[in-house]
Amino acid sequence: MTIRWKDERQSVVTAAQEMASLGLTVGTSGNVSLRVSSDDMGEPDRVLVAITPTGVSYAEMTPQDIVVVDLDVNPVDGEGIPSSETLLHTEIYRRRADAGAVIHTHSVFASVAAVMGLEMPPIIDEAIISIGGPVKVSEYAFPGSQELADNVCAALEGRNAAIIRNHGAVCVGEDLREALNVCVMLERLAQIYYYASMSGKVTTLPADVVEAEVAIFEMRRQARLNRS
Ligand SMILES: [Zn+2]
Repeated sequence: MTIRWKDERQSVVTAAQEMASLGLTVGTSGNVSLRVSSDDMGEPDRVLVAITPTGVSYAEMTPQDIVVVDLDVNPVDGEGIPSSETLLHTEIYRRRADAGAVIHTHSVFASVAAVMGLEMPPIIDEAIISIGGPVKVSEYAFPGSQELADNVCAALEGRNAAIIRNHGAVCVGEDLREALNVCVMLERLAQIYYYASMSGKVTTLPADVVEAEVAIFEMRRQARLNRS
């Protein structure tokens, strides 16, 4: 049996399994999505998203389990039930033309920051360049709700990562590789910040350095938008 978007679906499965093996989530929590082309449907402007299903273990997940939906979460292809956080993913794609992939994790130190309401100041050079600025924490909202999607998008504005209050984190990238790298970077940043905070001495990057690093991030983002 041939399945549509086979390669894209396989890449979503691979990224989800990598997310799990990196310890960024446990069980069936967390979810992964990828923007896919609708060209072969004769509707080139319809944005489609391939997303992990709810309730399937990552070790057993196959490309057939991946569900394709449009931005209104109408099913397009696949028999599984799309992730319970699909509204979060679709809202990000709706607002962010530069987002090619979205990964939502429950990684430990990002979740510690989520519980503490701990925004992360500019403390590590590479984190500013890959995330685009200090990391914000969204206002609390119920899991799976449109309110959560809206609150998280507000915290994500101009950045590639945000902490979801009392819940976890979300990261975006041009592709799955970048989104996963941002998740790893965010978790590392949260860990560094937590330990540094415990020591009682946190120094931040100079303002002009942060400005220059954010400019590098923006330049890359613009180049990506011009390519798409
Ligand atoms: Zn979650």
